[in-house]
Amino acid sequence: MTATLDWLGCATFRLTIGNLVVFLDAYIDRVPSAAPIGISVSEIDRADWIVVGHSHFDHLYGAERIARATGATVIGSYETVRIMEAQGVPLKQLMPVAGGEKVRLAHDVTVAVYPSQHSCVWSHAQMPPADMMCLGDLGVTYQEQQARLQELWSFLESMGGEVMAHLQVSAQGARGDGGALLYFFETPEGSLLYQDTSGHWSGILRNLRPDVAILAAAGRGNIDGEPIQGSLAQFMARRADLIRPRRVILSHHDNWLPGFSGAVDVAPIRSELTRWMPKTELIEMGYLQAYPIFAGL
Ligand SMILES: [Zn+2]
Repeated sequence: MTATLDWLGCATFRLTIGNLVVFLDAYIDRVPSAAPIGISVSEIDRADWIVVGHSHFDHLYGAERIARATGATVIGSYETVRIMEAQGVPLKQLMPVAGGEKVRLAHDVTVAVYPSQHSCVWSHAQMPPADMMCLGDLGVTYQEQQARLQELWSFLESMGGEVMAHLQVSAQGARGDGGALLYFFETPEGSLLYQDTSGHWSGILRNLRPDVAILAAAGRGNIDGEPIQGSLAQFMARRADLIRPRRVILSHHDNWLPGFSGAVDVAPIRSELTRWMPKTELIEMGYLQAYPIFAGL
């Protein structure tokens, strides 16, 4: 039995451990101009669990159909569960969590849930490049952040055409960021940390020691509720330094919404990580590669 990981674009993955199939997020069907992944939600016929990082469309949209088609149980924030129920997923397939839970996924696989933070998406319109130094924006109130988020939505709407159509079809009415969560999987082959947006609580991360960490590499990092004073590359290195994994797998760094996201330049991230943690391996996966995540550790 070799655990494998398929990247399905953005922050969505499929973790396969023997007979166990776990989706990490479920955003697979995206705008036509985004690079094809090679699979669509309608083709997915096997899933036992869908573990959702937070309720934004680029993470959650698709979970409702995968759950209905496969009978999989969705683990997510109360907001994720509220949306999935509204989308017609039976209550017995919904497991609301907030952090502090440990869920048994199979006889020898568990996942522990921790509270987390969303990236400071309110602080920028387009995604900042990985090596761009971002300073300021400290102490911005919730209300001010909401006002700035409206500017972001206006920007997305101004992209028109297929983006507008996609935003409409994928809109599930998520309130706020839908409760960002962190997941720590323990399997017979190793442990895996999954995070789907660039934010964290330092006090929580520094006590976790995963063998492999899937880390979101997009946007302005959020450390304990405030935007990083520095670049995304520096944020990646600081976060990895807290958990010291042997392998880092990047996520959320592809051009998932052309015109908004852009493909993140990994070179500055690689160079920061190498400087801080020369022994940690940085993996950039292609889509659907069935990567043996714990091999060689
Ligand atoms: Zn989000």
